[in-house]
Amino acid sequence: MKEERVSDSDSGAAEEGVVAVEGPGAAEPRRPLADVPFEELIREMLWRLGEDPGREGLLKTPERVAKSLEWLTRGHRLDVARVVGDAIFKEDHHNMILVRDIEMYSMCEHHMLPFFGKVHVAYIPNGRIVGLSKVARLVDVFARRLQVQERLTEQIAQAVWDVIQPQGVGVIVEAFHLCMMMRGVEKQNSKTLTSAVRGTFRSDARTREEFLRLSLANVSPA
Ligand SMILES: [Zn+2]
Repeated sequence: MKEERVSDSDSGAAEEGVVAVEGPGAAEPRRPLADVPFEELIREMLWRLGEDPGREGLLKTPERVAKSLEWLTRGHRLDVARVVGDAIFKEDHHNMILVRDIEMYSMCEHHMLPFFGKVHVAYIPNGRIVGLSKVARLVDVFARRLQVQERLTEQIAQAVWDVIQPQGVGVIVEAFHLCMMMRGVEKQNSKTLTSAVRGTFRSDARTREEFLRLSLANVSPA
């Protein structure tokens, strides 16, 4: 019942040189600025944007930006297996488990601007369940890196598929993209929805419908 594995579901693959298309393992181009400290690059960027990096409000900005970007991309340095740890439990439950409205913050890889919204993760177990809080942490592993929403959705689905080995999994991401809202087309209210399914969520239309209905229904917790 296993389906093909998405090769980029784990940045480790790139590090091993299996897929040299993205991530730190990609063939190293010539890097004339490799020895320049990151803070110095930010300072130069401020100059080019017409700012004076020496003015008071900006003095510590390069340092802050460096730290902030490291935090926002820390998913590259997280490992799914270590995040989930031993929170996998044997359980004879065969109905759908849905973790809805998981907060998600990521950054689009095209503009390095945030996109953010909600993730809904559902699966039907096959003898194993995972701690609910771990599902939210799995989302962060893939959200906290430069992303496109479509790949983020696939990677979360694949991680659940690999870790829990369920009968099926479905993931929906609903997100607002600042690169659309603040610049370019300036579409303030358009939300992008993406979904990814595996196993019974793909093969069984009723399962898929139940998943979509429960994920997208408006429920307001009392
Ligand atoms: Zn963008």
